[in-house]
Amino acid sequence: MSINQEALHALLKDPFIQKLIDAEPVFWENPGKKEGPLFHADEWEREIAAAEKRLRRFAPYIAEVFPETKDAKGMIESPLFELQHMKEMLEAAYQQRLPGRWLLKCDHELPISGSIKARGGIYEVLKHAEMLAFQEGMLQETDDYRILQEERFAAFFSRYSIAVGSTGNLGLSIGMIGAALGFRVTVHMSADAKQWKKDLLRQKGVTVTEYESDYSDAVKEGRRQAEQDPFCYFIDDEHSRQLFLGYAVAASRLKTQLDCMNIQPCLETPLFVYLPCGVGGGPGGVAFGLKLLYGDHVHVFFAEPTHSPCMLLGLYSGLHEQISVHDIGLDNRTAADGLAVGRPSGFVGKLIEPLLSGCYTVEDDTLYTLLHMLAVSENQYLEPSALAGMFGPVQLFSTEEGRRCIRKHHMEHAIHVVWGTGGSMVPPEEMAAYHRIGADLLENEMKK
Ligand SMILES: *Cc1c(COP(=O)(O)O)cnc(C)c1O
Repeated sequence: MSINQEALHALLKDPFIQKLIDAEPVFWENPGKKEGPLFHADEWEREIAAAEKRLRRFAPYIAEVFPETKDAKGMIESPLFELQHMKEMLEAAYQQRLPGRWLLKCDHELPISGSIKARGGIYEVLKHAEMLAFQEGMLQETDDYRILQEERFAAFFSRYSIAVGSTGNLGLSIGMIGAALGFRVTVHMSADAKQWKKDLLRQKGVTVTEYESDYSDAVKEGRRQAEQDPFCYFIDDEHSRQLFLGYAVAASRLKTQLDCMNIQPCLETPLFVYLPCGVGGGPGGVAFGLKLLYGDHVHVFFAEPTHSPCMLLGLYSGLHEQISVHDIGLDNRTAADGLAVGRPSGFVGKLIEPLLSGCYTVEDDTLYTLLHMLAVSENQYLEPSALAGMFGPVQLFSTEEGRRCIRKHHMEHAIHVVWGTGGSMVPPEEMAAYHRIGADLLENEMKK
């Protein structure tokens, strides 16, 4: 896919794009955001409700096959954790008062695969398995889905395969559930994917194909191979409606948690949500679900690494998937492996354009520093990608563009939900190394 050279030429002269090219952290308010109800809201609401029901049908099965979900009766959900010390630490570090309540949505603790991908990825595999079993007459909606553990199901699913391209966490989610059900799974991993993720998958019997190039190439190759095999189902991170729906279910789950804390977003207590963004499906689905529930009382921001601001570039230029960060000379190299995506999903970009409040970018060093600060202040351990959300409220209050964006809102009692998207499965020695990098960076910063 190549971009119109004239359009590119004009873009390269744009002063905002120049900042992206220089890998400066930026804050961008989305001028395309519209107030009022979403397009086709009824239809989406129906589909998301159906996804929730499907997850409930599978819950008894999940509870038995993944014992860590037993207490939650097979629901794959994460806690909502109030941040107090971290907020104070950031206020001190950035010399900036940060009003409102801060909550961490702990998707790093999601069972089965330890990242936000456990929402979309697992959902899409379940949906596919259910469809095959229905077609074969082996399963009905009214059955107790624990029967899926019977050998005949594994024998049946082993006739089918599933393929996916991934920077790591999506592959991990799909591999874990796919292998448990009995599918043959192939994960096409980009160069960014961590060794431990590949090792874990191979241990589960998943075929892992490695690529020296980036995520978009891994997806493309996976798609190509899958197309040649009629028994292979390709999970397409760049275009999948099913992944999107799986992520969107998060919204009603969060609402239940906010209700329990007596938080009802409104004009005086607006909800601000910060989501790390790679190709866009995860944050897009969550954002869409939240908008359907809370309308104009929720404000959603996407966070990307300064070297991989693909969604921001796609939205800003209006070119969506037709432009890649490579087109403006960025290298798409970042410690935030889960966000190392050069070309955004056009499907997601177009859906969220009217509802997203803005995007901002974060430097890798900031991710490490935040990782360290969160670990010492709250004892929460996230992978570098997952810290991108944490920088959002800081940017909102401390940059000129951010302040302009919140000028019209009541910020004193605002609720800030920082989405922690991954980390609980990172091997301890690797986490300790991240933690040390952050501590060193912070120490050097203090010496200045
Ligand atoms: C994949 C991922 C994201 C972003 O999700 P996308 O659907 O790629 O936008 C964020 N954080 C982590 C840790 C991830 O693995």
